[in-house]
Amino acid sequence: MDKAVLIERAVVDSILSYAQMLHPREAILLLKGKVDKHTIVVNDTQIPPLATHGNTFSTFPLHTLPIDFSIMGVAHSHPSGALRPSVTDLNKIYGRIMVITAYPYQSEKNIAIFDREGKTLQYEVV
Ligand SMILES: [Zn+2]
Repeated sequence: MDKAVLIERAVVDSILSYAQMLHPREAILLLKGKVDKHTIVVNDTQIPPLATHGNTFSTFPLHTLPIDFSIMGVAHSHPSGALRPSVTDLNKIYGRIMVITAYPYQSEKNIAIFDREGKTLQYEVV
């Protein structure tokens, strides 16, 4: 059974505003929250410890992140405006979900969530 994905409004706002701030560079944020049998809840974001503004998602060393079971996945921005994962993205999934926000980062219409296979997940903003 697929889990329901719930993402807090404040998290959506942080992803959008961080992406806007770094545009036209790529923004990368860790997504924190909790998971149970039926639900993934994302309720916090964190700038990755090794983030430098020269990094893009495709060059970011995800394997150096500490093992932290409160990390549900990673969000990154697509300054190109493409609201879908690239092949590189799909090879770099860390955690349970991948969130992509595409330019112009205005609302959740510019956000999509994917599972580890690259399938689009429905989600609810709470
Ligand atoms: Zn990407």
